[in-house]
Amino acid sequence: MLYLPKKSEVEMNRCKHCVGSKCVKNGFANEKQRYKCKDCGKSYRDGDLREKYSIERKLSVISMY
Ligand SMILES: [Zn+2]
Repeated sequence: MLYLPKKSEVEMNRCKHCVGSKCVKNGFANEKQRYKCKDCGKSYRDGDLREKYSIERKLSVISMY
């Protein structure tokens, strides 16, 4: 039986490079789910810290104004 992801689950799997949503599961890396983006062809891992850091930087920049 094929596993069909729920809509909310699909929306979570956004590409961290181009923010595209055409991401497919691409095995595992370091016990983390790995995804590949069909839009830009880049792969990324679930729970990548880079996005969290960028959000924190944005918040600190906003608070400066
Ligand atoms: Zn992408």
